[in-house]
Amino acid sequence: MSEKDFEPLPSEEAIHLNAMFEAAIDGIIIIDHNGLIERVNPAAARIFGYTPSEIIGHNVRILMPSPFRQEHDGYLRNYLSTGVRRIIGIGREVKGLRKDGSIFPMRLAVSEVKLADRILFTGFIHDITEIKEAQAEIQALNSDLEKRVEERTEKLAEVVNRLIATNKALEREVRERKSVENALRRQEKELQSSLEKEKELSELKTRFVSMASHEFRTPLSTILSSVELVEAYVKESQQAKRQKHIDRIKESVNNLNNILNDFLSLSRLEEGRVITEPESFDFNAFCEQVLDEIRLMLKPGQNIHHEGLDEKLIVHLDKKILKNILINLLSNAVKYSPEGSTVYCRVNKGETYLQIDIEDEGIGIPEHDQQYLFTRFFRAHNVENIKGTGLGLNIVRRYLDLLEGSIDFRSELGKGSVFMVSIPLSGLE
Ligand code: ADP
Repeated sequence: MSEKDFEPLPSEEAIHLNAMFEAAIDGIIIIDHNGLIERVNPAAARIFGYTPSEIIGHNVRILMPSPFRQEHDGYLRNYLSTGVRRIIGIGREVKGLRKDGSIFPMRLAVSEVKLADRILFTGFIHDITEIKEAQAEIQALNSDLEKRVEERTEKLAEVVNRLIATNKALEREVRERKSVENALRRQEKELQSSLEKEKELSELKTRFVSMASHEFRTPLSTILSSVELVEAYVKESQQAKRQKHIDRIKESVNNLNNILNDFLSLSRLEEGRVITEPESFDFNAFCEQVLDEIRLMLKPGQNIHHEGLDEKLIVHLDKKILKNILINLLSNAVKYSPEGSTVYCRVNKGETYLQIDIEDEGIGIPEHDQQYLFTRFFRAHNVENIKGTGLGLNIVRRYLDLLEGSIDFRSELGKGSVFMVSIPLSGLE
């Protein structure tokens, strides 16, 4: 019997190990110190596309693609002489070469087995082709996803930008529309106010025509009858009567003149055509001139008392406007006062104002009428027999507005009135 025939039976543990080796899902290859394959399990042979017997005894290099194939011997030698490990005891991802020449990724863990007389190396091989493929697929999916996200983001940004631009355009349009609307509204207001002015003016003209036709009739018929009488009084002895009628004619013409003046002033004021043209002059001398004109209108026994300023008072004002104001107030004072009464014209210079008070001892203004005094065409109830247009005070107030001045009054029925005018001293020099 040969020695071989008496080989001891393998132990149970060895049987187990062998079964595990053969049945392992991962490949196991055992090589010697020269790299020659000593043992290989079915899984390892399958991974590389061989049968175990095809590779046993071959250098493990045949399972490696270039450049590892050429370098493997060197690695092995190097390790055996220096002990510096490159793969032994360390798991690694490497490439494997199948029998059909295809290369695949695998995870390789090599361990060193030191036997009593020699060294073996065991390689555990796990084919990671599927993992790699899945990884690659995931990566591809991922990058596709990323690309799509990028594309979407780009598109979204584009949409957002377009929205922002549209928004801005809309905002601009809203602004433009608003400004157009405002302009239209302004125009409408202007149109409305000019229409109202136009209406007022035409109303004023209508009222004037009715007032004038009424007021003109009396002086005109007086003139006509007086002219006829003047013609008739040809004798020397009739000279006094003749003169009386000439005076009547003069008075009537004056009356007509006053009415026309009032109307002209008012229509010029209404149309905004009155512009102040200030000039420098002595107010005292000016006042005297105006009073001289008024003196011509005085009724028998009437007189004007002027309480002026002691010294010269040079003012810088519109002379025509000022004259119009004073003539209006003074002629009212004379007109609405009885014969033999006195009209007072008092001038005072305050800190910031020039104050002119015109007082009379006339018929006064009924209390109830006083609130309407500065309204156009308004005439108090106690002046029926006295000629007038009801425009003078309205004109005075408007003229004072132009001078930035003001007017006030006090009146007592049957006793008299006082009109107080204030003009800012800014016009003084
Ligand atoms: P007119 O004198 O032409 O009627 P005014 O506008 O000057 O118009 O005056 C308006 C009205 O105010 C007068 O009709 C009159 O009733 C009243 N009035 C003005 N001044 C006086 C005055 N000094 N005394 C009394 N009444 C006056």
